[in-house]
This record gives sequence, structure tokens and C-alpha cells, in this order.
Amino acid sequence: MPIYFCPQCFAKLAPSVDCCPFCKTAIADYLRKTPYVDRLIHALNHPESEARMAAVIGLGRLAAQAAVSPLLALLERWPADVVQGGEAIQSLRRIGTDAAKNGLQQVAVTHPSRVIRHLAERALNTALNAREADH
Ligand SMILES: [Zn+2]
Repeated sequence: MPIYFCPQCFAKLAPSVDCCPFCKTAIADYLRKTPYVDRLIHALNHPESEARMAAVIGLGRLAAQAAVSPLLALLERWPADVVQGGEAIQSLRRIGTDAAKNGLQQVAVTHPSRVIRHLAERALNTALNAREADH
């Protein structure tokens, strides 16, 4: 049976619930009024790793510039999750702004996980090569 969550506070809900009993969010209203990118960024704090992963991937596909800081925060908050971290790094590479590259450089040097540092380093090299190929 699928599990439903409040998109605002992430409480588990029955699928028929219209208004979250915990945070009083009117769910249909919230989904209609909150921009998709904002919902994805908010979902980076979801307690379920699958939901976080879907948000990480979605933000990368959209190359959402507003997601740079939230993705970097995600890398700090779950430092041992290298699958999620690797995907966050790919999303930062796709976003590709200076802020994203600076963030990746920081991660490549300071992140506690050696695997994550390596993945960030590789993402930076890939981004660089892609830019060189344009010239
Ligand atoms: Zn709620």
C-alpha cells in the first residue's frame, strides 16, 4: 500500500485526507499554490530517502538555480549517504552556475566522505571538459 505524506510537514496521512491534521495545511491548495521547484526544494528535507532522492533528481533535471544552497545543505545533513550525495553532486553539475561550481569545489575539499569528495572532484572535471569542448 502506498504511503501518503503531507507535502508541508511530511506527516503520514491517509490518501483521502484533504487537510493535514498535524499542520492544518489544505493539501490541494498547497500543491496548487506552491511552485514545483519550491516543492522539490522543500522535499529535500523529507524523512523518506526515496522522496529526497526524487527531489534531488528532479532539481537537477530542471537545472534549478535556487536549489544550489539546499543541495549543498543536503550533502552536509546526510554526509554518509553516498548514493544520495552522488546524485546531489550530479544535480549541482547540471545546474552548472558559478555558485554550483564553487559549492562543488568546497565539497571536493572539505566533505567528510572520501567518496563524496572524489565524486565532486570528478563532476568538476567533467563540467570543465564539457566547456572546453564547446570552444
Ligand atoms: Zn502537515
